[in-house]
Amino acid sequence: MLPLPPFSWLAPRSLDEAIDALAAAPDETVLLAGGTDLLPHLKYGRRAPRRVIGLGRLPELARVEPTADGGLWVGAGVTLDHLAAEPRVVARYPALAAAAAAVGSPQLRRMGTLGGNLCLDTRCRYFDQSAFWRGALGHCLKKDGDTCHVVPGGRRCVAALAADTPAPLLVYEATIELRSARAARRLALTDFYAGDGLRPHVAARDELVTGVHLPAPAVDLRSAHVKLRARAAIDFPLLAVAAAGGGGEARVAVTALGPRPRLLRAPAPPGPLPDATIDALIALARARCHPLASLGDEAWRAALIAPSVRRALTSLQPSRETP
Ligand SMILES: Cc1cc2nc3c(=O)[nH]c(=O)nc-3n(C[C@H](O)[C@H](O)[C@H](O)COP(=O)(O)OP(=O)(O)OC[C@H]3O[C@@H](n4cnc5c(N)ncnc54)[C@H](O)[C@@H]3O)c2cc1C
Ligand code: SF4
Repeated sequence: MLPLPPFSWLAPRSLDEAIDALAAAPDETVLLAGGTDLLPHLKYGRRAPRRVIGLGRLPELARVEPTADGGLWVGAGVTLDHLAAEPRVVARYPALAAAAAAVGSPQLRRMGTLGGNLCLDTRCRYFDQSAFWRGALGHCLKKDGDTCHVVPGGRRCVAALAADTPAPLLVYEATIELRSARAARRLALTDFYAGDGLRPHVAARDELVTGVHLPAPAVDLRSAHVKLRARAAIDFPLLAVAAAGGGGEARVAVTALGPRPRLLRAPAPPGPLPDATIDALIALARARCHPLASLGDEAWRAALIAPSVRRALTSLQPSRETP
């Protein structure tokens, strides 16, 4: 078993306590929710914080609540297991429930949280390795090196955001809430991802994600989630697509290609999506979505973008009222 490196451990019991603890030394601290992503990074020497703040005891983050505008608030500490079975999520935002149910394995979903999934570190086959392996290759821009093995000569890390929940949240037009000792702010999830493999999102070092707000679904909203991975029992996505139609628009979000998920939109008449709308979104996906070699198999993944977008758009399921 790989040992953890030394760090000081804080386990606050309230959100305010956690925010104050983070504000005390933001550059030396990382947050740990379920730990399913962070702990392997620590054990393999890919991250080396001096302080770790555990968010597992914060009741404020573990809530799912209706909002005044008819939508739903989902706290960052809600586990993926809970999210996948939450009756209001299953009925009204089925693509989000499906994406949560498709993360990793049952053990990972029981520990892993929505906040950890949204803030998941980017993945790269040249980085998700032991320190010995990375050292033998000469390291890279993401840690300890000055080169990129995916884009030789590149000055930007293009490791992929291979998290499952951002795509459905994007097509549902979710907003994300961040809090620090300085302020609270809410931004569209499209603006949360920065497109940088080194730091994929715009949360400042002293900010934590408190949760997401899902707007009330349009009366005719239908949605779907499609995930491609090597082994359905456990693997990260190599390509994932969420789609939604309703309210005069069709939307597709494609993820696991590069550091930022892509959201594509096209106008759509009421009722079943016409072929012209599906073809327009497939053409947009072909033009704007390009898998990088950070996760490998880029030709295979590129070839599967159009069929996956078509599959998602032709398998939309209606949102229902909560039973
Ligand atoms: C074998 C294996 C398979 C996996 N398969 C998948 C998969 O198919 N799909 C997928 O999406 N993921 C997968 N994962 C990754 C991981 O299990 C999930 O993404 C999980 O949701 C991470 O949540 P967590 O609470 O465990 O995050 P943690 O590991 O606790 O944290 C992850 C990151 O988020 C940050 N963070 C956590 N909470 C907050 C917060 N509230 N505010 C700000 N930052 C925060 C942490 O600092 C850290 O940088 C897999 C992992 C493993 C080991
Ligand atoms: S994309 Fe390049 S810089 Fe980023 S982790 Fe991979 S090899 Fe390193």
